[in-house]
Amino acid sequence: MTPPLMPYVRLSATEQTTLLDGIVARARAVREKGGSPVVVFDLDGTLMDNRPRTIRILHELAHTWSEKYPEASASLREAHPDRTVYALSETLDRVGVRGAELIELAETFWKERFFFDEHLVHDTALAGSVSFAKDCHEAGARLAYVTGRDLPNMSLGTWKSLRDLGFPIGVVGTELILKSDAAIPDEEFKRLLAPKLSALGEIIASFDNEPGNCNIFLKFFPQAKSVLVDTQHHPAAPKPDAGVDVIGDFSRSSTTKA
Ligand SMILES: [Mg+2]
Repeated sequence: MTPPLMPYVRLSATEQTTLLDGIVARARAVREKGGSPVVVFDLDGTLMDNRPRTIRILHELAHTWSEKYPEASASLREAHPDRTVYALSETLDRVGVRGAELIELAETFWKERFFFDEHLVHDTALAGSVSFAKDCHEAGARLAYVTGRDLPNMSLGTWKSLRDLGFPIGVVGTELILKSDAAIPDEEFKRLLAPKLSALGEIIASFDNEPGNCNIFLKFFPQAKSVLVDTQHHPAAPKPDAGVDVIGDFSRSSTTKA
């Protein structure tokens, strides 16, 4: 993964396993007492790595530019997920595509593809994420996938992606919740939505790669675990509040499942 922009202190492998297994155990305990446990998951940068989506688009741009901008095209072919960072302009700079005109063209090309159903097929699951989501679901938790992707342009591709990667979806105890409009800022969407999630049951844990969203969930659900998945986040993100646990992925040392 790309090194984090801020040096967050992640849980050790043992602590991470204890945290994640503890959430599964709490789901089971709440369910056995007749409750309705809920685990909330963000998608991009949390359950899923969307950097391969960006790389696919940049490689398509390389093809489009092969005759008109052969040097930039050659640079784009070298783009790789491990050198992909939060801001597209910085990713372009890293592969050697520079100049305001080219960057603007590339950003437009990227936006016209990144935020639409068709390219979601290129996302991959974060290590251990499918197994953990399945374990939560099998323990009796309702899974609420809460994403800043928008309903008009990204819902069908998201549903397909969740299904094809092996996450529980389309069965009892799963919810896919998206923004009604792409123009709504992600943080505003989650801030307004979070209190409404109580209608689903007892929130026992939430996972997000944006520290600001983790702080929102911690504020609304102080009894639940709020977990920052330390992949990529907005460069101007606030610090995670004390009480937010930090993990790099969903690997558990006690399990050999993918
Ligand atoms: Mg995210």
